Amino acid sequence: MSRRKREQQSFKTDKAVADNIVESWLCIDCGVNTAPGLLSGPDLRLALALASDDDGVSQTFGGDTAEVYTVKSSLWAAAGMRAWNGCLCIGCLEKRLGRQLRPQDFDREDERAFARLPSTDRLLDRRGLCKMPFLTDEGEEREMVIDKRQTEEASQAWRTSALALRGRRAVSDTHQMKHALVCAGVLLFTTTLAGCVSSQRFAAPARQPQAVPQAVPQAPSGPFTREREDREFGQPLNGGEQ
Ligand SMILES: [Zn+2]
Repeated sequence: MSRRKREQQSFKTDKAVADNIVESWLCIDCGVNTAPGLLSGPDLRLALALASDDDGVSQTFGGDTAEVYTVKSSLWAAAGMRAWNGCLCIGCLEKRLGRQLRPQDFDREDERAFARLPSTDRLLDRRGLCKMPFLTDEGEEREMVIDKRQTEEASQAWRTSALALRGRRAVSDTHQMKHALVCAGVLLFTTTLAGCVSSQRFAAPARQPQAVPQAVPQAPSGPFTREREDREFGQPLNGGEQ
């Protein structure tokens, strides 16, 4: 039987009223309200009957147990469900299936109509989505729903860049070490060279003492007198007497 025929059959046998309104949002296994704020089928029909055509019925959807979704009909059938025979929370559906849901279990309609509605974290997780906190320009803290792959890609990109940075640091350290070794080598060579020069300088033969210039006796000049004789040859032993 085709999907369309199964849905039509369920519509005829499982719906109390032939319209497209969900009869009850309560999980048929555990009773939790999967759509807090939304009216049940009978209440919504009554509200619609009382409202004017222009106003319609306003409903506010959201809450801690909000889990409105659609999965592929084959999976829904595998859980023993029909198109219109009730709702299941994620936990009860997974219990029936015996495994956790995966992003590919949801159908296209789910992504188009329900994926951005308020939901539990576990439903977001099964869809491959997650909440990301952010600050508005006014400094207000908000949350947005993003694809988990984006955060994983961002995280992977961060890890890759961190590893690359660490690698560059390692290369830089090696380069610096090489540079330090080269510097040390140059310093050692320079020191050794300086030592050789210094040794040579200190080992160089001592400079020959320069000959001390001897006093050259002045040639006598002028007339040779008794005073000159005494000055140049000293006092005679006999006291100068002839
Ligand atoms: Zn349940």
